[in-house]
This record gives sequence, C-alpha cells and structure tokens, in this order.
Amino acid sequence: MNLDSPRLGILAVVSGPSGTGKTTLCRKVCDGVHAVFSVSCTTRPPRPGEEHGKDYFFLTEEDFLARVDRGEFFEYARVHNRWYGTLKSYVYDYLRRGVDVFMDIDVQGAAQVRGCEDELVIRCMTDIFVMPPSLQELRQRLLGRNTESEEVFELRMRNAEAELQHWRDYRYCLVSDTRESDEARFKAMIQTERLRSSLVI
Ligand code: 5GP
Repeated sequence: MNLDSPRLGILAVVSGPSGTGKTTLCRKVCDGVHAVFSVSCTTRPPRPGEEHGKDYFFLTEEDFLARVDRGEFFEYARVHNRWYGTLKSYVYDYLRRGVDVFMDIDVQGAAQVRGCEDELVIRCMTDIFVMPPSLQELRQRLLGRNTESEEVFELRMRNAEAELQHWRDYRYCLVSDTRESDEARFKAMIQTERLRSSLVI
C-alpha cells in the first residue's frame, strides 16, 4: 500500500435534536477545502440572518417536490412538518476528490443513507449522534435560541423525544457538554474516521 495514495472523503452524517449545537460543530470542521458542509434544501422559511445558499437552499414546496420527481436528492424527509433534503451534487464528487462531506440531517435521512447500496457511500459513511445532556437542558438551549414560535417550539420538543430513541443506530454518540469539550471530542471522532482503511483508493 502506498501511504501517500489518494483517499476518499468521509461522509459524516450528524443527527440529534434541534438545539444540541450539531450544526455549529459541523461548520467548525468545514474549511471548504478538505471538508464541506452539505447545504440542504428546505421548504421552511428562513430565520433572521439565514442566507439562501449558505444556510439552506430555501425552496417552495412545488420546487422541492419537482426536484424529488427529477431524482435530484440523495436523501430527503419530512421534518417538523417541512421538507428537507440533501442534493446528490453535494455528495459524490466531493467524496471521490477526497473532500469530507458533513451532513446535518435528521434520523429518517440518516436511515436512508445507511440503507444506500452504493459502494462509494458504504465505504465513506460514518454517523454521529449528538445528545443533549438532558431534555430540560435542551428546552433551555432551544428557548435561548429564540428562533421559533411557541407552536413550533413545542413540536420540536416533542420530536426531540422521538429522535433521542435512535441514538444507538449511530456509530458515535456525543453527549453535549461545554462547547470546548464538544468540539474536541467531535474533532477526535473525525480524525479517527479519517484513518479508515476503506478510504484508501
Ligand atoms: P432546522 O430547521 O432547525 O435547521 O433543522 C431541523 C431538522 O432538520 C434538524 O434535525 C436537521 O438535522 C434536519 N435537516 C436539515 N437538513 C436536512 C436534510 O437535508 N435532510 C434531512 N433528512 N434532515 C435535514
């Protein structure tokens, strides 16, 4: 084996209830050169400060469903009563070029990626579940974010309890603590995954 041989990127699927800080963790390790954050499509409205093409591609329901029909999505799911999906164009080319791809997606999307029979995806995929320290702490964090109406907030809390049931489906489980500790452990997991022999071309 040539140790300098090019390698594939890792496809890191990161899930966990809204408010655990998983998006921030993913973005921390994505420098755009060695790793990219997969910008998803969604039909939910943008929050203040969110940018089209940077945080999400904000689509109408009609446009989203037309893309489903054209087979443009790598995975997609209905989450909190809205559509969310990852474009195929965010996955394959990057992995082949050795760029790591970070996907912040829900448990249904993660199950679809795990079920994917494409050899490239099987070789590259890994998954991490980010757990809140407690439901009470999650409630505080979500409240502190103050981005949701009361109705959406309650829906997200209810969905969080259902999502938490899936933590064992993931290779890694990161119970959120301080920001520094979360970042350090997240980076350690990624560094370990980068050593996988399955990535060597
Ligand atoms: P938010 O609206 O808070 O940005 O995201 C809500 C939920 O949708 C989060 O759990 C997030 O992981 C999930 N999500 C974001 N993008 C995608 C996607 O492309 N596919 C799937 N399946 N879930 C997504």
